[in-house]
Parts: sequence; C-alpha cells; structure tokens
Amino acid sequence: MNKVVIVTGASRGIGRNIAYNLALNGYSVIANYNNSEQEAIKLKEELNNQGIEIDIFKANVSKRSDVQRLVNFVIEKYRKIDVLINNAGIAQSKLFTDITDEDFEQMLKNNLYSAFYASQEVARYMIREHNGSIINISSMYGKIGASCEVHYSISKAGIDGMTKALAKELGPSNIRVNSIAPGAIDTDMNRFLTDEDWKQIVEETPLMKKGYPIDITRCVKWLIEDEFTTGQVISVDGGMVM
Ligand code: NAP
Repeated sequence: MNKVVIVTGASRGIGRNIAYNLALNGYSVIANYNNSEQEAIKLKEELNNQGIEIDIFKANVSKRSDVQRLVNFVIEKYRKIDVLINNAGIAQSKLFTDITDEDFEQMLKNNLYSAFYASQEVARYMIREHNGSIINISSMYGKIGASCEVHYSISKAGIDGMTKALAKELGPSNIRVNSIAPGAIDTDMNRFLTDEDWKQIVEETPLMKKGYPIDITRCVKWLIEDEFTTGQVISVDGGMVM
C-alpha cells in the first residue's frame, strides 16, 4: 500500500506544492486546508485531471477538535498514517512593543499548538505501527530570530525544540522527527516584499537566488524516504544560515 501522508496547510504556497508533488509521485495524500476552499478544490481538480486522487479536508489545525476530526478521517479511510507534515502557519510583522496578547496567542496557536496537536494525535497510530515520520516546516528565524517578528520566531524555535525532544522520545518506536527551516520562499506569505526587498535578499544569499516551494518539497521527499535521520533542523535557504 502507498505511504499515507497528511499535509497541513496545503491549499496554498509550500504545503500545496508538497501535496501536489507527493500525490504525483504515488503517495496517498490528505491535503488539509482551512479558509482557502476554492484553492483546495482546484488542487484536487488539477490532480484528478491527470488521473490522480487526493483527499482535501477542511480543518483549523489550531484547534484540537479539528485535528482529531482530520486524523479520524484518515484512520477510517486508510487505517494508517505514515507521514505527517506540519506545514500550516501564519506570519505577522510588528514591532515587539505593538504585539498584542491576541497576536501572540494566534501566532502560537497556528504555528506551534497546531504541530503539537497533530503530532500527538498521529503519534498514537505511528507508535502502534512502529513506523512513522513527522516533518515540521519551521523557519530560519527559529534559529536566528527576526526583527519585528518576535512572536513568529518564538513559534518556530518552539517547533525546533519539539522536533528534538520528540525525536528522542519516539526514536525507539521507529518514528523519525525532523524540521525543515526554509529561508525566504516566494509564496503569499511574502507578498508584502517589494522587488527591491527581493533583490536585497538575493544579494545576501550565498546561492544568489530566491527560494521556491519546490525547493522545500525536494527536501521533504528525501526526508520521507530516508531511514537514518532524526532530530535535525535542516536549513533549505540557499546558504543564508550556516
Ligand atoms: P502561505 O502561502 O501563506 O500558506 C499558508 C498555508 O497555511 C495556507 O494553505 C493556509 O490555509 C494554511 N494555514 C494557516 N493556518 C492554518 C490553520 N489554522 N489550519 C489549517 N491551515 C492553515 O505560507 P507558506 O509560505 O506556504 O508557508 C508554509 C509554512 O512554511 C509556514 O509554516 C511558514 O511559517 C513556513 N515558512 C515559510 C517561509 C516563506 O518564506 N514563505 C519561510 C520559512 C518558513 P488556508 O488559506 O486554507 O487557511
């Protein structure tokens, strides 16, 4: 049977690219979305037109009950979960002194609680199967911090801490847990950047180019098939962080 992969936040950007390419490569993919229903339907239609199946599932993964609905759906349909990709996330740029309690709470709920809930819900099944891989999409800012994104940086540093702790705890159950820390990737999340901003980012990047969602997908594909890597935070950022 094909590997069963849940991708959270798969209606747009990096998550969409991961879901699309894994489905093309023969994985059974469950693409989670929250607000962008039309984009999720379009993803399904694009694959269906090529004779490829994919499940799309609406759930706000910052809520425990929604995550449980998602995982129950997958278990009822496939009886197992091989891979969880915790990709869903939000960003916000604000001066530290302007971040409200609500901003902070929303950031942690969407970026960190979501990954905690989903990992906990799938771990039960992965432990039973003595097999699994959890891939968290973190950020270079979890490692180096970003000015005016303190709450975002905290959420991503939290993801990396969870990755290492979980890797230790779940390793004996043959479950690998890793983070991918992207650099600047061309998605809706960065629509606020001007051409001039991108030019500067490219100049500061050793590989002298922008990142695209496919760059993250390639690393995800490798991590899914690898069998001896766990507890790592892997930079995919053109050499921005060394
Ligand atoms: P994006 O284009 O803004 O897409 C975000 C995706 O996350 C959307 O599909 C959105 O779904 C989903 N999402 C957000 N909150 C959700 C929730 N509570 N429940 C379910 N889905 C939710 O962002 P992106 O650039 O692809 O980012 C994907 C991940 O990569 C994020 O974790 C981000 O922090 C990380 N990352 C991105 C960059 C970058 O430069 N782009 C760099 C480093 C790390 P709906 O629209 O359906 O609500």
